[in-house]
Parts: sequence; C-alpha cells; structure tokens
Amino acid sequence: MPVEPLTEKQIRASFVNCTKGEAARLRLPLDFTELPWKELDFLGWVDPGAPLRAHLVLPREDGPLGISLRVPSVGRTSVVKSSLCQICLTGHASSGVTLLAAPLAGARGREGNTVGTYICADLACPLYVRGKRQPKLRAGRYEESLTLDERLARMSENLDAFVARVTGT
Ligand SMILES: [Zn+2]
Repeated sequence: MPVEPLTEKQIRASFVNCTKGEAARLRLPLDFTELPWKELDFLGWVDPGAPLRAHLVLPREDGPLGISLRVPSVGRTSVVKSSLCQICLTGHASSGVTLLAAPLAGARGREGNTVGTYICADLACPLYVRGKRQPKLRAGRYEESLTLDERLARMSENLDAFVARVTGT
C-alpha cells in the first residue's frame, strides 16, 4: 500500500528512536517536493546533511512511523555480510547494499542497543521491487516466481519484522 503524501511536520513528528532534537535537525530528501508517493510503500532516504545517517518512514494505521538509522561503527556488528537487501531482496553489487543500524526505541536505545539490517543503499526498495529503478550491477540474477503484489507484500513483511525489533512490539 503506497504511503499517503506526508508533510515535513508529520515526518519530523513520526520518529520513535531518536531525540526530538535529532528529528528536528534531520534533512529531508532533496527531491521531497517531487517524490513518487504512489510508488512508495515507505519513504526511505540517506540524510543529505549526514551521509552516515538514513531514515525510514512507513505508514501505520495510527499515523506514520519513523525510524532513524546509521552506519554502524566498524566491528560492532555480527550480521553476516550480504549483497542482498534484507527488506526487498534485491541483489546488488556490494556497494549497492548498506548495513544500517537502528537504535532501539526507548531506554534500551539510549543505552546504545541497536538492530541492524542490510538494505538498498539508497533505501529505495519500493522502486526496485516495482522495476522503476535498477541495481547498478546485479550481484546474481535469479528469476522471481512471485507476482509484483506478492513481492511488495514480502517487502512490507520484512520491513514490519525489522521495525518490530526496533520498537520492541
Ligand atoms: Zn531493498
């Protein structure tokens, strides 16, 4: 389900795992006024003012939910290296996928606990799944037997599972 177009205010108010100050300071996507909302099941972008930070905002029944992510410092993660996005399962050359870590929501996050995932480096999973964007170098081509709707549903499930680990719900 595509996201309803969001305002800057809604986006800044949606974050559950960073401080209000961080949410106020983050930079919106450079193409914010021309985003293809109809093709976005969630909004994901690398912070234009802080390339080691990225943000996800996804629709929820009770309003948008924002997750702040960062490139983890080296050596602090035990996730197996992958060239496959763990959200949308698009295969990339290794530079096309980034390991990002989200601080857990609440006190556990303030103590430094994070959860990591490999994700398309531009966080544009919905566009890859819809074939609107192509990986620069596909790591391994394999035929998908699923329909577009099924692949979009799988992407949402994977994202929901990741978000549930962040929010602890
Ligand atoms: Zn992806």
